Amino acid sequence: MMMFDLTGKVALVTGGNGGIGLGMARGLAAAGANLVLAGRNVAKGESATRELGDGCVFVRADVTRKADCLALVSETVRRFGRLDILVNNAGTAIRGKPQDYSEAQWHTILDTNLTSAFLLSQAAYPEMVKAGRGKIINIGSMMSQFGAPFAVPYAASKGGVVQFTRALATAWATDNIQVNAVLPGWIDTELTRGARADVAGLHEAVLARTPAGRWGVPDDLSGLAVFLAAPASDFVTGAAIPCDGGYSVRG
Ligand code: NDP
Repeated sequence: MMMFDLTGKVALVTGGNGGIGLGMARGLAAAGANLVLAGRNVAKGESATRELGDGCVFVRADVTRKADCLALVSETVRRFGRLDILVNNAGTAIRGKPQDYSEAQWHTILDTNLTSAFLLSQAAYPEMVKAGRGKIINIGSMMSQFGAPFAVPYAASKGGVVQFTRALATAWATDNIQVNAVLPGWIDTELTRGARADVAGLHEAVLARTPAGRWGVPDDLSGLAVFLAAPASDFVTGAAIPCDGGYSVRG
């Protein structure tokens, strides 16, 4: 269907070499997009590009480095000639008590989860203006809305992602660039496997609170990524859309 067709489009997915990023990349590839997957782990990158096949490349980058963010966009344009869809998905979490975090840990979380989205969006802007349209998809979290005692810097970064999304959407709407956020519920990935091991009762608490009665899997995010990347969402901007099996609406 044309509304969901991404043939000829080029998407850059940070953290696309695993977890939720790879789940979204699978959807974008199935809809016809060419893909650049970015991350630090080359082995995971090669495995992901093998799976997605022709039209998908991995570029090694650390999104906490401004130079890497700028190089990612120029490398995408060098390989595929354009950039239509930017998915700011790379993210990290460090669990701890707020009184114990070092300033360096705070900056690692904020730089990875929030500042990189700003730098990559800035770098992508001229390419999207040139194309006359663009789609930016930022990844928030349930912690964009809720608090958790073991994740204060993470919650600050993900709350920031939603406000960044809203403000950027208003700034670039007349450039025909739509900016939206996805708020995943609890999804089974490397990131949450650590939390499940460390936080007593987390696994059961998530099951009990999620109306769907299960943890999510990365492919649960594929369809929403396609929608937000495709012409189907051309009048949707500044939204923060949960993909959470009902977690955020349960009283
Ligand atoms: P994973 O740990 O599986 O994936 C995180 C990805 O981010 C990896 O591909 C990693 O690649 C990349 N990444 C991390 N730091 C950097 C960096 N400095 N530079 C470049 N890439 C980096 O976790 P998820 O798939 O769960 O997380 C993806 C996103 O979804 C994150 O933003 C996370 O906060 C968010 N999220 C996850 C939820 C969940 O339940 N899983 C819930 C809500 C939000 P590499 O290691 O190769 O650098």
